[in-house]
Amino acid sequence: MTHPPRRADTLFQDVWLPEETRRIRAEVREFAQDVIRPVAHQLNTTPESKEAFPRNSDAMARAGLYAIPYPADVGGRGLEFPTLATLTVLEELGYYSRGLASALYDGQAILVGKTLEKAPAHLRNKYLPALIRGEFVGSFATSEPEASTDLSVASMQTVATQVAGGWRINGRKRWITNSAVADWIVVLCRSGERLTMLMADMHAEGVSVGKPDLKMGNHAQLTSDVVFDNVFVPDDHVVGTEGGGLRVALGALALGRMGIGAIGVAMAQAAFDHAADYMCKRKVFGQELARMQHWQYLFAEHAVGLEQARSLYQKAGYRYDVEGSAEVEAAMAKLVGSRLAVDVARDAIQVCGAYGFVRELSATGELMPLESIYRDAKIGEIYEGANEIQKWVIARNIFGRAYTG
Ligand SMILES: Cc1cc2nc3c(=O)[nH]c(=O)nc-3n(C[C@H](O)[C@H](O)[C@H](O)COP(=O)(O)OP(=O)(O)OC[C@H]3O[C@@H](n4cnc5c(N)ncnc54)[C@H](O)[C@@H]3O)c2cc1C
Repeated sequence: MTHPPRRADTLFQDVWLPEETRRIRAEVREFAQDVIRPVAHQLNTTPESKEAFPRNSDAMARAGLYAIPYPADVGGRGLEFPTLATLTVLEELGYYSRGLASALYDGQAILVGKTLEKAPAHLRNKYLPALIRGEFVGSFATSEPEASTDLSVASMQTVATQVAGGWRINGRKRWITNSAVADWIVVLCRSGERLTMLMADMHAEGVSVGKPDLKMGNHAQLTSDVVFDNVFVPDDHVVGTEGGGLRVALGALALGRMGIGAIGVAMAQAAFDHAADYMCKRKVFGQELARMQHWQYLFAEHAVGLEQARSLYQKAGYRYDVEGSAEVEAAMAKLVGSRLAVDVARDAIQVCGAYGFVRELSATGELMPLESIYRDAKIGEIYEGANEIQKWVIARNIFGRAYTG
């Protein structure tokens, strides 16, 4: 597949980003170009199966990418702005494969890794270095068949019951990223009238995992049901405090949401670049599409959207690094980035016509990227808190809980 010039390099100026973050962008871009780009079409179009799980986590670990979000005491890079850097990694990986970025970085490094940062010292100090070295695959499980957006105690059906020396888990989790190949899972359970997060061994007796779901997009991100049948978890595998599981889950999800915003920017930029290049070459009625004011103005609007969405995820990450929270910015970054990805992918396909709609052109063997970007973009508006929930978070910050609930 040919890759057009990256318009962001001339349109978007990283004038205020710390030198540290710019270095990370350059480093990860080189990795993504060398390692992900050659297999991107295959990752983005091969239907889900255990065999098709992207085994790129080893290469990512060897390149030190999993060290970027973490402090030096667990083998991380100890960056001054780790969240900003982590989101930049997601944009660079997601430019070529959204599924891979979601599964192996947003899922592994943010949802699992940032949850483990809240684990007791003996778990944190053992498993975070192992995650950074790429020694295990992890899953993060809050969603269930009947509860996902609503993570209230009343909705949660997976139950952890205290027994001698630990807990027994019974229940079913659904849509669990990486579970088909995972070694460990952090799982949110009802424990009495509270929710508790436990770290369970995926190879323990009583754990079974379904076949990967066949989805509209993000094929490189395998999701499956995980069933817990009286699975034992020792006492010292409670992550956070007993009864404090929701706080732990929401903490990781707040960062994950910024990540979905960054991946949205990545998809939008990739579709934008492909279409802008095509518009300069394809002639209709004797002139290039890029000469038509209709398309010039539409892509000018999308350039503004990209600037806004990128600035939002960067501000969210920066504020989180400086102040330790960025709830409104995270919600805005997720909302705007994921929506932009769908909008730009749709318009990019429209201007490329049939050449946008096709995945592989039989006559020439050419591989086209827009079809998979359009399919992959949709889930960004749904997962890690549907976009309606992001609006609710923003509204809550305008009117207060007394009005919004
Ligand atoms: C590819 C993929 C990967 C995933 N990975 C994981 C994972 O690793 N771990 C995990 O735990 N889960 C995971 N999920 C689950 C995902 O987070 C949920 O699908 C998502 O939270 C939405 O939940 P739901 O699908 O049950 O929709 P529901 O909760 O049933 O909501 C349906 C729709 O209702 C609307 N809605 C909901 N609440 C409100 C409201 N208050 N106001 C207005 N509208 C509302 C929204 O539009 C929402 O999309 C994944 C899902 C997919 C598809």
